[in-house]
Amino acid sequence: MGEPDPRLARSDALTALGGRTFDLLVIGGGIIGAGVAAHAARAGLSVALVDRGDFGGATSSASSKLVHGGLRYLRLGDVRLVREAHLERRVLSTVVAPHLVHRLPFLLPLYESGPYRPAFVQSGILLYSALAQSRLNWLVSPGRARGMVPPLELRGLRSCALYADAWTNDARLCLGNVRAASEAGAAVVNRAEVVAIRSLGGRVCGAELHCEGQTIAVGARVVVNAAGPWVDHVRRMEEPRAGRSVRLSKGVHAVVPRADEWAAALTIVQDPVRVTFAVPWYGMLLLGTTDAEYEGDPGTVAVEPDDIEQILADAARALAPDTLAPPDGVLATWAGLRVLPAGPGESVSARRETVYSFGPGGMLSVAGGKLTTYRRIALGVLERLRGELGLRRVDRRPFPLPGASGLDDVRLPVEVDPSVRANLLHLYGALAAEVLEPAAEDRSLLERLHPDGPDIMAQVSYAARREWASRVEDVLLRRTTVATRGLGTPELEERVAAELERVGAGV
Ligand SMILES: Cc1cc2nc3c(=O)[nH]c(=O)nc-3n(C[C@H](O)[C@H](O)[C@H](O)COP(=O)(O)OP(=O)(O)OC[C@H]3O[C@@H](n4cnc5c(N)ncnc54)[C@H](O)[C@@H]3O)c2cc1C
Repeated sequence: MGEPDPRLARSDALTALGGRTFDLLVIGGGIIGAGVAAHAARAGLSVALVDRGDFGGATSSASSKLVHGGLRYLRLGDVRLVREAHLERRVLSTVVAPHLVHRLPFLLPLYESGPYRPAFVQSGILLYSALAQSRLNWLVSPGRARGMVPPLELRGLRSCALYADAWTNDARLCLGNVRAASEAGAAVVNRAEVVAIRSLGGRVCGAELHCEGQTIAVGARVVVNAAGPWVDHVRRMEEPRAGRSVRLSKGVHAVVPRADEWAAALTIVQDPVRVTFAVPWYGMLLLGTTDAEYEGDPGTVAVEPDDIEQILADAARALAPDTLAPPDGVLATWAGLRVLPAGPGESVSARRETVYSFGPGGMLSVAGGKLTTYRRIALGVLERLRGELGLRRVDRRPFPLPGASGLDDVRLPVEVDPSVRANLLHLYGALAAEVLEPAAEDRSLLERLHPDGPDIMAQVSYAARREWASRVEDVLLRRTTVATRGLGTPELEERVAAELERVGAGV
């Protein structure tokens, strides 16, 4: 296997950024920017993708990690959005990333005190499942439901609706797109912040970046602003008087221990519009989310004690009280910002539409929408720029992300424990063999990062050499599952820092 030196690869990409004019510069390496870059590079365009932080480091690693039609959007009347999202769920779980997107049944318990009549919910689930082209749409008895979710609260339970969606690892889905872009020739650089948009004769022609203490001017025929919660900030770099195009809503999640096997996730109705989830997640329970207007700096969004209290109280509507750990038993938490179209009304009932807008010099800004529909959003961006980019047509056919093909035939170069194998195949697909290759020579790479989790040392050097990780948090939060399992310790952080140093990846 070639052993790319991360420092060389990064300095090559930085040199490339400053040394030529690209067809397309994408600002923001969340799932939308990464998806745009991957599709554009595969269409034969020269592409640069930059992120001020880590790829997937903002919203795209802070979601509920569901690839779903979105049951609540039916309630808001967004049938088209639900249909599209279901279609994407099928495409992602069969072609694009079958190793990362897995089907999961969902139970929606209907309590006497709840806002809906069972017949109303059943017709909603029937429509949802018809749009999903799924036959899983029943009302099941409390007894059967408890067989699937043992701690389900039975008091006042009339029945449960059953339907199917899917779960994923959002950060790795994003990274898969960055890698697809890079393999198709894009220059991809994280920790490179756009600080100014450059124009010539009134047309946008690139951007200025701050990266490692340098300022780099990047030339580009077309610029896409996919800066997520910072979208308006970047719009104002082109047009200082640009108004507000989006508003933000904070959503928090918490991971708690789980004692029993769950055969389904729970969708818990909180009020006529808001639902929360309890999702079996890597042997634990992922709970959330909250939904509260956010006016602050997107870079400082954080989990507050009240958020956790609310998440636990929301979950307690459908789970026996002893299931939920006290706040100090919460293993991991994260906060993210939904980007919603600007407008009046509560954020919880705002439509989850994607906002596209052209600036006066031609920069296209895109924000909002869902992780699930990122591919459609990326294709929508290329359609809008087809003329400027000189594309005769936009190829909408789905393609497998790196590692997503040949999953039935993966041969690992060394034998590993079944839980380690399953984790590697889930996170890397067929590239798991590449992750393990150096371990054939150096058995210390098979060591687990934490005795209670399946991630191993080989993933750390792989993250640095092949996945643009340069900081401990990149590895523990987004390349492996360590931090989302609540297994990060100061000692482990030191070990990971030492490994990053050893392979020469620190920025
Ligand atoms: C609480 C919550 C739960 C959600 N759950 C789900 C779910 O279960 N399923 C689903 O389908 N969707 C879900 N979503 C929606 C989904 O997560 C988002 O739609 C998606 O992640 C948005 O991706 P993005 O690329 O637009 O933004 P981001 O991921 O935020 O990426 C924007 C990037 O731009 C970079 N950037 C900003 N400014 C600059 C600059 N000046 N220079 C360079 N880079 C810059 C940032 O560093 C960032 O990485 C959820 C969202 C939230 C908040």
